[in-house]
Amino acid sequence: MTRKEGVVLQGTGGVWHVRADSGETHEASLRGRLKQERKQDRKLAVGDRVVLEIDERGEHWAIDEILPRHSKLARREPGEGQGERIVAANVDQVVVMFALVKPEPHLRMLDRFLVIAEGNDLPARVIVNKVDLADLDEARERFRAYENAGYPVNYTSVKTGMGLSDLQAAFTDRRSVITGPSGVGKSSLLNALFPGSGLRVGAISESVNKGRHTTVGALMLPLAGGVGFVIDTPGLREVGLWSLPPEHLDRCFPEIRALSAQCRYADCRHVSEPECAVRAAVAAGTVSDARYDSYLRLLEELKAG
Ligand code: GDP
Ligand code: ZN
Repeated sequence: MTRKEGVVLQGTGGVWHVRADSGETHEASLRGRLKQERKQDRKLAVGDRVVLEIDERGEHWAIDEILPRHSKLARREPGEGQGERIVAANVDQVVVMFALVKPEPHLRMLDRFLVIAEGNDLPARVIVNKVDLADLDEARERFRAYENAGYPVNYTSVKTGMGLSDLQAAFTDRRSVITGPSGVGKSSLLNALFPGSGLRVGAISESVNKGRHTTVGALMLPLAGGVGFVIDTPGLREVGLWSLPPEHLDRCFPEIRALSAQCRYADCRHVSEPECAVRAAVAAGTVSDARYDSYLRLLEELKAG
């Protein structure tokens, strides 16, 4: 019986698209015994590595085994339950993309995405695109807080090609979840970096809309040349911070995390406690007001449950 390993690209209505390591893509169903797995962490997700097996007649492929995953990006299962849904498995990094203008960047959303990445123990990168439409120094000023916090920030223009060569390496041989509002240039960027991937302008945003109706809510896009995958996650905006206890939020802001050991109280939440190193840094201007404000808002949200 033929068996081969591959990666799950997408799943809709019980049909899974699996790209075998040898390059071809098969539609496959999940073996009944795997379907019955009740344990959430064993549910099949986009990005999972699986073993495929073909039936005796050589017609139908089935997913016979789900291989262990090394990381995941999870969100709360819609509805009342406590369960989680794995948005993507085996993710190496989260790339959050904005445009400098058209549309205006939404920095609170950026902070939320970065917390989600930190909460899932995934490294994050920020891309600021469309720098051809505005002043680069101004752009650097606007995103300085993220560089100061230690995030790699890439300034790009897919239109002029600026900054693209630096980015290529960041995407190569890595599984990336690329996220960001529609219209910022995600499809254009991937097309420019990996010509031949067959992404049209707008392709990612369209797949996001389609993704709402798929069972898994994510889609992997194999990039030309076998250099890695990009997972487009419709639901990342809805990825709650639910699994994060409020007292762990400060660990998800690197610049706050770096200071919290210097606070007077070991359990300082950096809100109104005396001798708080974080508030002192905000007052001194070394931690950005806007980032601190995002921290406070997210803290309220987590406390409210
Ligand atoms: P997505 O929804 O994030 O995938 O964005 P698209 O790749 O579909 O791009 C949205 C629009 O922005 C298209 O009209 C692109 O041609 C345009 N665009 C993408 N990158 C740039 C850029 O660097 N500069 C300018 N001026 N326009 C861009
Ligand atoms: Zn403090």
